[in-house]
Amino acid sequence: MSLVPFVASAAAALWRERFWSPVQFSVYQRRRLSRLVRHAAEHVPLYRSLYAGIDPDRFELTDLPPIDRDLMRRNFASTVADERIALDDVLTHLAQVGITGGQLRGRYLVASTSGTTGEVGYLLCQQRDWARQLGVLFARLLRGRLHPTNVLRFGPWRRYRMAYVVATGGPFITFLISRFDAPFAAIAADMRAFSIGANIDDNVRELNAFRPHHLHGYPTALELLAREQLAGRLRIEPEVVSLGSEPVTALARSVLTRAFRGADLRITYGTTECLPLANQCRAGRLHINEDACIVEPIDRNGVAVAPGTTSDHVLITNLLNTGQPLVRYRLDDQIVVDKDRCPCGSALHSLQVIGRTDDVIYLRRGDGSFVALPPIPFELVFLNVHGLKQYQLVHRQQNELHIRFVTEPEADAGAIDRDLVRAFSEFLRERGLGHEVLIHCEQVDRIARDPTTQKIRQIQSLVAVPEIVAAAGGGVG
Ligand SMILES: [Zn+2]
Repeated sequence: MSLVPFVASAAAALWRERFWSPVQFSVYQRRRLSRLVRHAAEHVPLYRSLYAGIDPDRFELTDLPPIDRDLMRRNFASTVADERIALDDVLTHLAQVGITGGQLRGRYLVASTSGTTGEVGYLLCQQRDWARQLGVLFARLLRGRLHPTNVLRFGPWRRYRMAYVVATGGPFITFLISRFDAPFAAIAADMRAFSIGANIDDNVRELNAFRPHHLHGYPTALELLAREQLAGRLRIEPEVVSLGSEPVTALARSVLTRAFRGADLRITYGTTECLPLANQCRAGRLHINEDACIVEPIDRNGVAVAPGTTSDHVLITNLLNTGQPLVRYRLDDQIVVDKDRCPCGSALHSLQVIGRTDDVIYLRRGDGSFVALPPIPFELVFLNVHGLKQYQLVHRQQNELHIRFVTEPEADAGAIDRDLVRAFSEFLRERGLGHEVLIHCEQVDRIARDPTTQKIRQIQSLVAVPEIVAAAGGGVG
């Protein structure tokens, strides 16, 4: 199974960070890149044509043309090393398997992503490569806690309980992590997913029973749990609280720090395209995992920007995915690579993520109370509706949700419209909301980017935070 690559990758990542210099990292990164480029040019049709005329033994990174999600979508079959896999196979697999667990052709994990543009993309990763990415992720996420002296804290004698409060029930990347591999779970850890779609009282009760050592989730969701902890209903004492998939606001950070006083707060930066992009150190900086990926901040013309300057986009190269290689793949995140080295002494560069800024939606129940709905569960609803190419939800006026969507060329727009209304009605009903919330769906040809930020805010609220909520410090149950 994938336990061996996981442990080997984690151990090597710990070793490298402890003993290697920046030069060693850069030599190693270059060697992995050359190997990946040679593999991609030989086995992946898209790269075979893109890299015609490029000598895999002698090239500059900037010689390689960037790619993006749209290019991948249009040429899906030619982006995969296994030429027998077409996009239809992926969609059929997802429709049949429903939630994850099953692997495409027994080898590939399938994840879906919407990224920052609202376009749905599908990513494949071989089980072995996935284990290697997770190895780096956990080594760097738990850096400082995995010294030889306290590595004995992990093992069959003290099963490490990890709670993932995430979107479940679909091919979503953090959920896939929580489902990682029975052998690993059986030996040293107990990983359990808690649905952010569930009623918060149920999650509080189950977390109290589970008593996690490690709590992971989206900042907007964990902030709600932190308020439960402050109110005394949630009573857990995690050693590590890690956050990912969304930017962490100063408010969320302060609430989490107050609620979980004994815990290390660790921010992670990863995407479906490349899980272990960067992880926080004890000095509070996000260090790029330069042995697993290459991160290039660029401006809107695609030109590299200097450290200390905010980028418009970022190109990422995942050095640990051979099944569907991603080389210089454009993400719409804005980042700043730090100019100076971190006081923690790590040889890895650090960065800051300006990140995406979807909103929490506050809806009013019939009895006048408000319910706070973080953005990611809304995306979950969209990602479970098949045939969507792009989408956006805007809370235009109190309790009026406007959904705009673009369909795949061959899709039945009328059916999608009905599916969306049905899925969102159910989503709201589960949260104690009914006819007081209006859902309006509209099919459009395209969803334009914001002219200033060049981004699409997929889950956006134009409605002010209710006064009663603002006065209480930003959250309700
Ligand atoms: Zn550091």
